Amino acid sequence: MTLDRSRQIRIVTTLLALVLGGVVLFAFRDHTSIQRYYKHQGTVFGTYYNIRYQASEDLEDAILQRLKEFDASLSTFNPHSTISVLNQGRDTVWDDYFTAMYETAQEINVLSHGAFDITVAPLVNAWGFGFSNRETITPELIDSLRGVKNILDASAIAKGQACDVVANLLHEHGADNYLVDIGGEVVLHGVNAQGEPWRVGITKPIDDPSGQVNEVQEVIASTNLCMATSGNYRQFYYEGGMRRSHTIDPRTGYPVNHNLLSATVVAPSCMRADALATACMVLGTDSALMLIRELPKTECYLIYATDTADSLAVVHTEGFPL
Ligand code: ADP
Ligand code: MG
Repeated sequence: MTLDRSRQIRIVTTLLALVLGGVVLFAFRDHTSIQRYYKHQGTVFGTYYNIRYQASEDLEDAILQRLKEFDASLSTFNPHSTISVLNQGRDTVWDDYFTAMYETAQEINVLSHGAFDITVAPLVNAWGFGFSNRETITPELIDSLRGVKNILDASAIAKGQACDVVANLLHEHGADNYLVDIGGEVVLHGVNAQGEPWRVGITKPIDDPSGQVNEVQEVIASTNLCMATSGNYRQFYYEGGMRRSHTIDPRTGYPVNHNLLSATVVAPSCMRADALATACMVLGTDSALMLIRELPKTECYLIYATDTADSLAVVHTEGFPL
């Protein structure tokens, strides 16, 4: 009886030791499993992407697959995408990316009193910044195109949304440290390969149709950020002495013409930040500040032209993460 009991105790103790050892080993393995930083660069939706993350495996194929799915929903340059099929006047099922884009676009349209409007597509096209050919502008043409509401352009919101989509994928794969930059819209989390907060720059809005000049106005260091910038310094042309930029005021049908050069917005998602940055560019400095100050967890950094020596001035909301 006594012997049996001591044997039982020995067995239980051995079992316990094995289980505990297993737990310790597992925890140890989890912390030391090889986690390296990966870096992928390339082009997507006619712009560049720069993605970095720490993980135990290379996720490039999964990322590219996601971006392909996204393109098949929202690219106006892909004739078979959901948005293109709808723009051709045909019926199709709204996929999740399209639905999320549409709902947020509607919300920002209301918040910005119509400054952000994805039905601006025919005007964007007519002015030569869209997915079909530039037209000869007349006031009559502008008036008639302002009435067209069934052709959509997601360019001002999709890049930000794509950043969220890639960031979610990385998060799903257990990554905690990542930076996703698609055409200047950014989602970042955690730390870089040096163990320091990620650093991203706000570009100085100097006229640069080549998109190559990258003078930095401000550097932001952060461990948790969704940020988007819209500007008029890369997509513009001159005609008859008038500067025509790619931000169209849906309320007039004309490209905006004021002193705001670039708008950077920080928001709870990059999709919102992107749409709001475009809304700011339409509204101009003062109204943009008013809009952003009304919104929770949303901040902006605006660079505008002045007559001062270096001709640029900055205004930002109190909570902007400088
Ligand atoms: P970027 O990040 O390239 O500076 P935005 O995010 O501001 O650009 O998107 C600009 C694009 O958005 C334009 O090229 C056009 O396709 C579209 N767009 C222009 N004006 C508006 C508007 N008022 N509302 C929504 N989309 C717009
Ligand atoms: Mg935008």
